[in-house]
Amino acid sequence: MRRVYFDHSATTPVHPRVAEEMYRFLTDSNYGNPTSLHYFGRIARQAVEEAREKVARAIGADPREIVFTSGGTESDNMAIHGIAYTNRNRGNHIITSAVEHHAVLNTVKALGKQGFTVTILPVDQYGMVSVDEVAEAITDKTILITIMHANNEVGTIMPIAEIGKLAKEKGIIFHTDAVQSFGKIPVNVDELGVDLLSISGHKFYGPKGVGALYIRKGTRWKQTLFHGGAQERLRRAGTENVPGIIGLGKAAELAVENMAAENEMLQALRDKLIREVKNRFKHVRLTGHPVLRLPNHASFCFEYIEGESMLLSLDMKGVAASSGSACTSGSLEPSHVLLAMGIPPEVAHGSIRLTLGKDNTEEDVDYFLEVMEPIVERLRSMSPLSEETGYDLDRCNGCRISHTCRA
Ligand code: PLP
Repeated sequence: MRRVYFDHSATTPVHPRVAEEMYRFLTDSNYGNPTSLHYFGRIARQAVEEAREKVARAIGADPREIVFTSGGTESDNMAIHGIAYTNRNRGNHIITSAVEHHAVLNTVKALGKQGFTVTILPVDQYGMVSVDEVAEAITDKTILITIMHANNEVGTIMPIAEIGKLAKEKGIIFHTDAVQSFGKIPVNVDELGVDLLSISGHKFYGPKGVGALYIRKGTRWKQTLFHGGAQERLRRAGTENVPGIIGLGKAAELAVENMAAENEMLQALRDKLIREVKNRFKHVRLTGHPVLRLPNHASFCFEYIEGESMLLSLDMKGVAASSGSACTSGSLEPSHVLLAMGIPPEVAHGSIRLTLGKDNTEEDVDYFLEVMEPIVERLRSMSPLSEETGYDLDRCNGCRISHTCRA
């Protein structure tokens, strides 16, 4: 069966050149612990520091500002928790948005139970935060603004540089989760005006379980999560994941090198996908911003269809897609991102996310469109909701009972 992978926001395949570099550090005599003083340790240390330079170069940072972590979730936790507790004597207020990944949202919510006050900003119909609303939310107790660079579910790119400027004017520390944007659009810490920034290897053809946190020199941040050794200059205890870090460095280098060429190809495929879905299907909404979105990202809500059935039917035809973030697909709750954008729960249940990658082709898009037509027809014919029932999805009262709700 033909297999089409359209789920690159969930994870990407490891680039062969990344795998090659990592392999050298899983074999031969390159197994040293970078903390060891001897020959084996020195080889590992040198490779880790070279990877740090590559990651730093890719985001316009100094290598000493990079801390290696176990991925995006850890970077987000480390950034937010560290800022909150290090600056507690200055204030207890944190600002974030309603469409953040759970790695951010659940971290600030946990802090909310520990004496911090959290403002969760609403977004507009495209999932965009308003810079004015960020400004209005700031109080003299605000110590941190954390807003994502690009949204994982709908691909919307946030006005990070403008928020960065505002944060700097007000002297507030600013973190961005760049897990989805890095490798797809330019990410430069000075241009964005961020103090902390999270990335994750497996989103840009690197390995899983490794990421980095950028911490601008001079930022009042101390590690507050792990107690242990002095690795990463006392910022992240635990023996370094040497092959992972080497893979992350190589993947970051390749991401920057290949971005322009890949994006041209991805954008053309994405535009065709969006155009054809809108042409061929009735009752479909593009979710996320029509223009300010990631070049590889197409996401929709198919009305009168249950998203999970759509994904399972596509999977049976060899097409891998998702209904939102990988972490929430599998749950029957509609996505918090779509709900925050004002999409009624009944419509949000019909969401699908198609995220393209460097190995996708126009034939993949054509195949998807070809198999999708009968799937949509069949699922709509089975659905208790339809245009004919006269049910107005936009007026759904959001009772969330089930997709058969007719209230
Ligand atoms: N932040 C965003 C925006 C993400 O999309 C993800 C993963 O999907 C994460 C954080 C978590 O990253 P990781 O899987 O490396 O823990």
